[in-house]
Amino acid sequence: MNRHSSREEDFDDDVDYERVEAKRQRKLQRQRMKAKEAAAQAREAATQVALPEHISVANLAVLLKIRGESLAKKMTSMGYSDVAYDYVLNAENASLIAMELGFSPTSQSQSQSLAETSDLHAAPLPADLSSVPPRPPVVTIMGHVDHGKTTLLDALRKSSIAAGEHGGITQHIGAFVVGLPHHAGRTITVLDTPGHAAFLAMRRRGAAVTDIVVLAVAADDGVMPQTAEAVAHARAAAVPLVVAVTKADRPDADPARVKADLARLGVHVEDFGGDVQAVAVSAKTGEGMRALEDAVVALAEVLEKRAPVDGVVEGWVLEACTKRSGRAATVLVRRGTLRVSDVIVAGTAWARVRSLRNEFGVAVEEAGPGTPVEVDGWRGEPGAGDEVLQAPCEEKACDVVKYRESVVERKKLSDDMEAINTVRKIKQEQRHREEAQERAKKLGGWDVYGEEESNTAEEASPVTIEVPFVVKADVAGSAEAVANSISAIGNNEVHAKILRSGVGAVSEFDVEHASVAEGHIIAFNTRVDPSIMQLAAREGVRIVDQNIIYRIVEQVTDMLSEKLPDKIIQSVTGEAEIAQTFSISLSGRKKMQIAGCKVRNGVIRLGSKARVLRSGKTIYDGSVSSLKSVKKDVTEMRKDTECGMGFSDWEDFQVGDRVQCYEESTEKRSLNGTT
Ligand code: GDP
Repeated sequence: MNRHSSREEDFDDDVDYERVEAKRQRKLQRQRMKAKEAAAQAREAATQVALPEHISVANLAVLLKIRGESLAKKMTSMGYSDVAYDYVLNAENASLIAMELGFSPTSQSQSQSLAETSDLHAAPLPADLSSVPPRPPVVTIMGHVDHGKTTLLDALRKSSIAAGEHGGITQHIGAFVVGLPHHAGRTITVLDTPGHAAFLAMRRRGAAVTDIVVLAVAADDGVMPQTAEAVAHARAAAVPLVVAVTKADRPDADPARVKADLARLGVHVEDFGGDVQAVAVSAKTGEGMRALEDAVVALAEVLEKRAPVDGVVEGWVLEACTKRSGRAATVLVRRGTLRVSDVIVAGTAWARVRSLRNEFGVAVEEAGPGTPVEVDGWRGEPGAGDEVLQAPCEEKACDVVKYRESVVERKKLSDDMEAINTVRKIKQEQRHREEAQERAKKLGGWDVYGEEESNTAEEASPVTIEVPFVVKADVAGSAEAVANSISAIGNNEVHAKILRSGVGAVSEFDVEHASVAEGHIIAFNTRVDPSIMQLAAREGVRIVDQNIIYRIVEQVTDMLSEKLPDKIIQSVTGEAEIAQTFSISLSGRKKMQIAGCKVRNGVIRLGSKARVLRSGKTIYDGSVSSLKSVKKDVTEMRKDTECGMGFSDWEDFQVGDRVQCYEESTEKRSLNGTT
C-alpha cells in the first residue's frame, strides 16, 4: 500500500512537474509574443509619419530622417527630374515618396475628407414627386441687344402681384413674382437680370437657377448673333426655351421669318413642326402677353417643377449688396420655407434671418419655393450664385463657414505652391543652361599680380534667390502699394516675391503660409497679436511690423542683402616661376619634390594660398607647404630671390610653370550699392 502510495506520489510529482513546466513554457511563449508585438508596434510607430499639406524636399528628408542626397536619389528613381531641395511637394506626392521609403504616412488631406462632414449639403429630392406641391417656375429673359428684353421685363413687372397690391414698382431685388390672373393661384418668378453675362456667371458658380429661358427675338430684326448665343447658353444648361417674337406691333414685323430663321439654330417652333412654343408679343400694346404667360405655365407643367414647402431650406443667392442697414442678399428659395430667425449659410457667409422683404421692400413672414426675398442679418459677404443652405443652429453655421474658409485658404496655398514650384523649375532650367554655357567657355587665364579679383556669386552662379513675403495691410490700397514696392526690391541674385497680399490682421494661416514657403510677413498699419508674434518666432518667420512704407523697403532690402553671398576678394601677393625641379629626402625613405623657383614679384610666404599655372591654365590650387632658401627653411622670400617650394598634397609641377601666391578676404554685400 505504502509502496503503492509512494508510486502514486511519484506519479503525482511527475504530473505536477509537467504541469508547472507547461505553464512556464506558456508564460514564456506569452512573453515572447508580447515582445514581438511590442517590437512590431515600435517598428510601426517608427515608420509612421504625419505629413503636412505641403513640404519642401529638404524638410521631408529631415522628417524621414534620411540624407537629402538619398531622398533626391530615390525621387529621381521614381521619375522626378531636377530634384531641388527647395522644391515644395504636396501631401499626395510626399506620401508616395514616404511609402516608397517604407513609411506609413498620414496626411492632413485625409483629415480634410473627414472635415467634409462638417459642411452642409443639399438634400436629394424625394423619388416620388407626385405628393410634392408644384412651385413657380423661374424664368430668365435672354436675346440680342435691343430686341426688347428690358421692355418685356417691365411689362411683366407691371402685372406683378405685389405691384397690384402695393400700387407701384418701388424697388427691385433681382427677381419678381408675376401673378397669373388666368391661372388662379399660380405665379411665375422672373429673374430681373436680362443679358447673358448674369446667366453665365450663375451657371459658372454651379447655380442652376433658371427653369425656363424666354428668348426675345425682334419680329423686325430676326435672328442675330446674340440670339444664337442665347440658344447655345440655354442648350448648354439644358434649360428649355419659349420664344417671344417681340415688337409684333411694328409695321415691318415678320414673325414667320423669325420662326423660320430659328430653325437654322436648331430651334424648331410649333408652327414649323417643332415643340418649342413661340408667341408674338408687343410689350407696347400688350398683345400676346397673356399668351406668353400661358406658354410659360404650360411648359412649367410639363417640366413638373415641384418642391417641398417644409423641411430644410435651400436656395440661391441672386444678388448681394451693402445697404445702410447692413449687408443684404436676395435669396431665391428652392425648397422649404424661409422664415425670420432661420439660420442659413451661403458661401463663406451666414445669417440669422433678421427680416425678409419682397421685391417692393415690404416685410414678409416667410418665403416658400420659387420666391425671391431680400434677407438681412448676414455675417460675412454672400455672393451672387452662392447656394443657400439652412443650418440647424448658429454654432453649426459658424463651423461650416470656418471649414469653408479653410478650404478656400488651402486651395489658395496649394495654387501658390504650384506657382512657386513652376517658377523654381524655370529658374533651375535656366541655371542649368547657363552653367552649361559657362563650362563651355571657361578659360583658365586670370589676373595679373597685385590686381584685385572679385569672385562674386554673380559670376560663380547665376541662381536667383527668391525671398517670399506675405503682405497684410489695413486697406486694399495700401496692401497693393506695399506689395508693389516690395516686389521691386532685388537684383539678379536675390529678389523679393509676393506670395499673397491682403487686408486684415496677420493670421495664424499667414504665418503657416510664410513658414512653408520659408518666407516672411509684412504687417502694414495692421495689428499683430502677441500670440502670432510668438508663433512666427517659433516658425522662424520674421514679421516686419511698420506703418511707413520706406521703412519696410529698408528692412526688406536688409533682409534680402543677408541672402547675398559674401564678396570674395582675391589679391595676388607674389609670383614665381619654376626653373627646376628636384627631390629631397625626408625622414625614412620618403622623398619630396621641390620646385626651384625664381620670385618675380611681391613676396612668397610659407603657408600662403597658391595656385600653379601651366600655359595659362590653373593646374593646382592649394598652398605653399614648404619654403627653403638653399637648404634652410624660411617663412618668406622676396622679389628677385631664388627659393625651393613645396605644395601641400601636390608634386606634379614642371619647369616653366608659374606660381601665384594670393590672399583671400570676404566682404559683406548689400543691395544698397556696396557692390
Ligand atoms: P433690350 O436691349 O433687349 O433690353 O431692348 P429694350 O427693351 O431696351 O428695347 C429696345 C428698343 O425697342 C426700345 O427703344 C424699346 O422701346 C423698343 N421696343 C421694345 N419692345 C417693343 C415693342 O413691343 N414694340 C415696339 N414698337 N417697340 C419696342
